[in-house]
Amino acid sequence: MNPTAERLVACPGCRQNTPYSTSNPWRPFCSQRCRNADLGDWANERFRVPAEAPTDDNPHPPESH
Ligand SMILES: [Zn+2]
Repeated sequence: MNPTAERLVACPGCRQNTPYSTSNPWRPFCSQRCRNADLGDWANERFRVPAEAPTDDNPHPPESH
C-alpha cells in the first residue's frame, strides 16, 4: 500500500494512463482536449434527433392476392 502514489486511470477519451490526482485538473481525462471531446460526445447523444417515427397513415393496406 502506498497511499501517496498517484493513482493511474485510463483516460476515457484516449485510454492513456492518466494520474487521477489533484495535480490533474482534467481527471479522469488526460487533458482538456479529451475532456472536451467527451463532453461533445455526450451532448451529441443527448441532442441526437430520434430515429424517424413510424408513420401510421395507412394501417390497413389493401392486400393483393
Ligand atoms: Zn486522453
